[in-house]
Amino acid sequence: MQDHAHSCIDRIITPEERVSAMARRSGLSGRRSRQLARAAEPMAPRPARMALVGEKLWDPGDVLRVRFLDGDPDVQVRVANCAREWLDHANLSFEFGTSPEAEVRISFQERGSWSYIGTDALLIDGNRATMNYGWLDAATGDEELTRVVLHEFGHCLGCIHEHQNPAGNIPWDRDAVYAYYGGSPNFWSRDQVDQNLFRKYDVDRTRFTELDLESIMLYPIPTEHPVGDFEVGSNGELSERDQEFIATIYPGRVPSVQGLVLDGGPLEAGIGSHGEVDTYVVGVPEYGVYTFLTEGPSDVVMSLFGPDDLGLLVGEDDDSGPGLNASITRALEPGTYEVHVRHYWSDRTGKYRISFSEGT
Ligand SMILES: [Zn+2]
Repeated sequence: MQDHAHSCIDRIITPEERVSAMARRSGLSGRRSRQLARAAEPMAPRPARMALVGEKLWDPGDVLRVRFLDGDPDVQVRVANCAREWLDHANLSFEFGTSPEAEVRISFQERGSWSYIGTDALLIDGNRATMNYGWLDAATGDEELTRVVLHEFGHCLGCIHEHQNPAGNIPWDRDAVYAYYGGSPNFWSRDQVDQNLFRKYDVDRTRFTELDLESIMLYPIPTEHPVGDFEVGSNGELSERDQEFIATIYPGRVPSVQGLVLDGGPLEAGIGSHGEVDTYVVGVPEYGVYTFLTEGPSDVVMSLFGPDDLGLLVGEDDDSGPGLNASITRALEPGTYEVHVRHYWSDRTGKYRISFSEGT
């Protein structure tokens, strides 16, 4: 038997949230407005039905802006770096910053950990969190932080709990499950257990094929819960099927596009193939002087494009950084920028680190 683990709570949109979200639609871009309407629609005529994943997906290629509402800055950086693991597989970008229009808003203040599913986040008032980490703080180890952050960002991308997979058939011992989750540290009511564990999604509306016991979206299932010989440990990383699934849902990922966190410290990267160009999306929060810097053994060249118009070259550099590294320092208007990094020699590969910081 394993220790009682903290578990994630399903977030269900209320009818009131739906109505007030529809009223806010006019302020959104065309795409976001359509996504919001899609997320809001299916529940209205059938309030008794479960929220389903198909209507809650973002569009492939979407840039999701992410803003922290509170929390320890070091923990924020760890959360951001961990969340990006999904982007190795999904054709989406995260832009961590301070945008008041951020689609994803993260707090650490409520007790549980949870996230709204996919575009349901658009139905939530802009001042409120769409994702919460109730037990993550500076003392949390990397293993636990990774497990929880990958799981919650899975919801954010539209994944449901794997044990609610309509194809799954877990032989639960229901009384044992009620007792387990009713106690510390979760203190769930029977309703909450029903909602979070036993309720399954409509098979027609989800895209799962069979239960994946290694999924990051599966709760740990201690042996005393199901009847019979069935146990799942605490899954701590994306399973192969998680990776394949999200790549199918958000196809067309261009390799190496990732977000870069302002003052988030250097990100480990590398030019893995000849002629590869790595692309980083960054959000500049306000007018100021910012520096992009590469470090490490490779002779890389860096180009900066933006704001918002990614065809507009702001600057390019080869060797202004340490050794043969590149460095660009510029006064920048707020907006979205892209940084491209390539090897100086088109027939070479090599590792480098890249950072984005305020000041010179
Ligand atoms: Zn969850």
